[in-house]
Amino acid sequence: MAGTEILDTAVVGAGPYGLSVAAHATARGSRTRVFGTPMKAWAEHMPMGMKLKSEPWASHLSDPRDSFTLREYCRLEGLPYEHGVPTPVETFVDYGRWFQRQAVPDLHECDVRRVDREGREFTLELADGSSVRSRSVVLAAGFLPFPRMPEALVGLTAPRVLHSSAVNDLAAYDGKQVTVVGGGQAAIEIAVLLDEAGADVTLVARTGALRWNSLPGPLPATLWERVRRPESGLGPGYYNKVLSDLQVVFRRMPKDYRMEVVRKTLGPEGSWWIRDRFEKSFDAEHARTGTRITAARPQGDRLVLELSGGRELEVDHVIAATGFEVEVRRLTVLGDELRGAVRGLRGPDGPPELGARFDSSVPGLHMVGLAAAATFGPSMRFVCGAAFAARTVAPRLPR
Ligand SMILES: Cc1cc2nc3c(=O)[nH]c(=O)nc-3n(C[C@H](O)[C@H](O)[C@H](O)COP(=O)(O)OP(=O)(O)OC[C@H]3O[C@@H](n4cnc5c(N)ncnc54)[C@H](O)[C@@H]3O)c2cc1C
Repeated sequence: MAGTEILDTAVVGAGPYGLSVAAHATARGSRTRVFGTPMKAWAEHMPMGMKLKSEPWASHLSDPRDSFTLREYCRLEGLPYEHGVPTPVETFVDYGRWFQRQAVPDLHECDVRRVDREGREFTLELADGSSVRSRSVVLAAGFLPFPRMPEALVGLTAPRVLHSSAVNDLAAYDGKQVTVVGGGQAAIEIAVLLDEAGADVTLVARTGALRWNSLPGPLPATLWERVRRPESGLGPGYYNKVLSDLQVVFRRMPKDYRMEVVRKTLGPEGSWWIRDRFEKSFDAEHARTGTRITAARPQGDRLVLELSGGRELEVDHVIAATGFEVEVRRLTVLGDELRGAVRGLRGPDGPPELGARFDSSVPGLHMVGLAAAATFGPSMRFVCGAAFAARTVAPRLPR
């Protein structure tokens, strides 16, 4: 039974988007509480030792006065904050937790087990057995509900087969034979970190050749450089700049176009700063590009992978760094009835259909972050989109 207290807004998820929305909503007088462990996805569902791909200036959480930026945190802590110097994940986690302490006073450090609608309110059932009512809900659950597994690995279980979002401490893989699937930064970085942790790693990627981004130009750029190739949170150039800054225009595009752009923009690409480390350890035998896993079968404690081209690999673990697929049906934190009322762009097998204020088809239920990428564009997949999301959704929340 929910208590008598009724919040204006319950934010589910304490990552960069949830914390930013809560900072703005709280400042506007909305009685807002965030549920979840601050920065949990970054602390527990990404590999330790990872570095951010985004530039520091594109990695700020957002508060109304821009007081609690990554720049400010690094200044206070005496940490490097420099264009072209990647931020360690540990620094980013600490930054997010500091941001929470400064800007988001009302936090319940507990996962939400289920959200249901009761009349015009929502009930949140929490993992600690308590429950709470709220007039609106902002779902800021990030990428964890949406791991995408290659078909050949579906049905195989942990710890032999894992999605990259289930991998954190790589020390346990010392001496193991591991195949990492994927050709993007997550796959490349996990492969390198595993190799450095003492594992025997093979990368298997469908792409014929790995792609790498380039060292960013110096900032501040000259006027000519800024005109020729403007910088944006999504990278340099006009295309990225438009996608990064014109989310409102993007939402007005036809839905099939939007989904295609989100699927294709910023495809798999390794970061310039990890390329040397990768190429030092991964020869053609250990970096099998143009290859896919066609089937996999357990063999004792190990796993046999059948690869396109007819070869087989016997390994201890497979880690699929194969990205995420947003589908309404995977939002299982929403009770069946509530989830059934959320309209998807392709029914329940597609991303949610959202309005101009990140509002779903259920009045009072908003969604930010990755779930909003098919509506507002690829910036919603990155921290740099949090300011737009928070500034857009906060004025719409009850007070
Ligand atoms: C390996 C990897 C590297 C990345 N690197 C970058 C990068 O360098 N720069 C960048 O901008 N983006 C990067 N991203 C994308 C990044 O995930 C997003 O930018 C960012 O996390 C979005 O913030 P969020 O708050 O939407 O999601 P998240 O950070 O995923 O936060 C959502 C939070 O909600 C919590 N949650 C989920 N369900 C519940 C529940 N039921 N109850 C309570 N809490 C819940 C989760 O535990 C999580 O902590 C990376 C992603 C991955 C996977």
